[in-house]
Amino acid sequence: MLQPSFGKDILILLNAESAGATRTAIDEIQRLGGRIIHVYPPRVLIGEVPPEVEPQVRALANVRQVYRSRVDLGEVEALGAATVQAVKGWNRGFAASFRALKSGRSSEGRSWGAPGYAPEGPVQAPPHLREGGDARAHAPGGDTSAYLIGKVATAIILVEGSAAPYTFTQMERDTIVAEVQDGLGWLATQEPKAQVSWFYEVYEVGLDLDPAQVPDFTEDTWRDAVMAKLGYAANWAGLEQFARDRRTALGTEWAYAIFVTRFPLWHFAYAFKPRVVLNYDLDGWGIDNMDRIVAHETGHIFGAADEYAESGCTCGERWGYLDVENGNCELCAPQQEPCIMSHNAWAMCAYTRGHLGWRDSNGDGVLDPLDPPPPVAKPWWLQFIEWLLGLFSRKPH
Ligand SMILES: [Zn+2]
Repeated sequence: MLQPSFGKDILILLNAESAGATRTAIDEIQRLGGRIIHVYPPRVLIGEVPPEVEPQVRALANVRQVYRSRVDLGEVEALGAATVQAVKGWNRGFAASFRALKSGRSSEGRSWGAPGYAPEGPVQAPPHLREGGDARAHAPGGDTSAYLIGKVATAIILVEGSAAPYTFTQMERDTIVAEVQDGLGWLATQEPKAQVSWFYEVYEVGLDLDPAQVPDFTEDTWRDAVMAKLGYAANWAGLEQFARDRRTALGTEWAYAIFVTRFPLWHFAYAFKPRVVLNYDLDGWGIDNMDRIVAHETGHIFGAADEYAESGCTCGERWGYLDVENGNCELCAPQQEPCIMSHNAWAMCAYTRGHLGWRDSNGDGVLDPLDPPPPVAKPWWLQFIEWLLGLFSRKPH
């Protein structure tokens, strides 16, 4: 099977030092007909640029170098950790061993609820939010991921303990960044009209925590400690503030966080905005499927529902910004088709597209969430009063 390109046919290295300079470069490249999908501020852009406009891209003021194949790490080592990680993720796609691995997945096409594999987590508010009525009632600043259109600040937060088995090797950290790049690249390329791009920041947070020494050690224990280390309130509100702040800092429409750790979790993978949580080893699925699991969990962040039978889905339940039914649910769909929300496959059904906001009902080339609201018809009684007023204000002949 052919490996999808994940929107990765060019890597552009910038001289930019600020987020503003990065955005200017992206705008210039897109005006020339390119499309930037992955952004590692301030220096690395990955996307698609037609070969005929490449000379013009090379000539842009802030463009330092352009690559279409493997990049020698020695050329970028002096440019900082974010640049090196981005380049490693890009380079991995050129390794034959990697391509073989991705085209021969042992769990290819399996349902996310397949027997013998650990269950993925349902979309539900974290325990402390569940009693308080509508857990999606949002703090000032509004929804940080209403629909998947536009720029998304993506904070990859690698959370480690001080000793094994809660640490990562450098290769494991690089693998996470690369797997996220692939999974989100696939997601972004499923709907060109949505113009999705990911603005990544990678945080490495070490915690002096030992689950064996802390009673009732849960996700909250380590996540709250992470928020404190990042300078935020050690609670869920701190995480929401963090997401809003990253959105402002990077000038994106949306923001969320992807936590990856070996600390104890509720399930091996789950999501509730504004955060995805992943166990590095992903139980039976393994790290090589992190790309697909990241795409699935990010789908949840932007409103998509589970569709595999074990999730207990129902076809009538409505999801996402556009309130679309969950018609590809395995329990009730007349002809269930493979979809990233039901199976370990690079596929997406029309219902999931609707949940993400990818529907263009009037065919004007603009997705529904961005359409201007329809003109509101005046109620009959208001029309009648206006007609009466018109009668009385008529001047005598
Ligand atoms: Zn799910």
